[in-house]
Amino acid sequence: MTWELYKAHNAIHICMVSFSRQKTLQICRDFYSCRCVDDPKTTNKNVFIELTNRCNFNCDFCYYRFSKRSKRFMSMRLLEKALKDLKNSGMDVSYVMFSHLGEPMLHPKFREACLLVKKYGFRLVVTTNGSLLNGGVNDLPIDELYISFHTPNKKSFKLRHAGSMKFYDYKKSVMNFAASSRMPTCIYLFKKNDTLPMLEGFFDIKSKKSVGEVERIVRNICPSFDVRKSYNENESPIPLSHNLSLRFRNLQSFCNTIIPDGMVVVDASSIPRCSCYIHHINILSDGTVTFCCGDMDGSMSTGNIEKEHLHKIYARRKPGADLSKYPFCRRCRGTLVSAGNLRTQPSLTCAR
Ligand code: SF4
Ligand code: SF4
Repeated sequence: MTWELYKAHNAIHICMVSFSRQKTLQICRDFYSCRCVDDPKTTNKNVFIELTNRCNFNCDFCYYRFSKRSKRFMSMRLLEKALKDLKNSGMDVSYVMFSHLGEPMLHPKFREACLLVKKYGFRLVVTTNGSLLNGGVNDLPIDELYISFHTPNKKSFKLRHAGSMKFYDYKKSVMNFAASSRMPTCIYLFKKNDTLPMLEGFFDIKSKKSVGEVERIVRNICPSFDVRKSYNENESPIPLSHNLSLRFRNLQSFCNTIIPDGMVVVDASSIPRCSCYIHHINILSDGTVTFCCGDMDGSMSTGNIEKEHLHKIYARRKPGADLSKYPFCRRCRGTLVSAGNLRTQPSLTCAR
């Protein structure tokens, strides 16, 4: 069903669906700020698999343009190895998420990859930028879908460097899918972040214009939607229908990778504890394993599943490890200062 048809026939009905049927999307996909890291029930169970580190966008607010890895697609053989290792490890995996860097739906065997995860009996969550969504996705065995819509207007959409794709077409594609989605789906929007003033156009609860433009988009699906009444600072999902929700998230700096001009990061000298490190398992498209979903290029890697069993790699992860030995962590936990106050400047070069 198209967005337009949906509006005509179902718009009133959808907001009358009882919120008690709403499935709460509580899965953590955040690094650094995620709130489930200290919950023992979820610790060590979240597995991110990067089907590809290739993306059809090149967002100014993403680590992607800094990544030095060569672009590749994970082979189905390697994906199956990862799933087998997980199954045989005895770990209580709460879900497998196609996420990390890149757009998973670009993978030529995306459908096969979804089926493989289900063959091994795991709950499958997919994060997508939404540009490749179509009706066929509804037929896939995806348990939850996260759409990183993020940019609610032309200005912010420019930050995505989306090639020939226009904002209107992007918005229409995402909302068409959201309106007809048969799987629990959450649309994500970034909130304006005052510490990143160069990234403009994101949602701002204090701006009437910004509130209006988000309402106009969401009301095509849920006519009674009122941003100010629904908005919460703790980033909880806002139910829109029985299987659709909206979530505002803080715009991230990707562990201090994205910083304003004229600022530099002074690395942290010690990191006594980071709960992200004990929380996630991330398997990159070449099989590299890292334990922080902010570690986009696997600089904290302790092994590769091409060479050994995931369980062995996992056993080398020390929950109490001093993370200051990793330059990426020192930067992540560093302090932003004005460049003029420093003689030497740590650098991260953009690969764009
Ligand atoms: S934020 Fe998502 S869509 Fe944008 S470049 Fe990164 S991976 Fe691609
Ligand atoms: S990069 Fe290191 S310090 Fe930062 S969130 Fe990840 S594990 Fe923690």
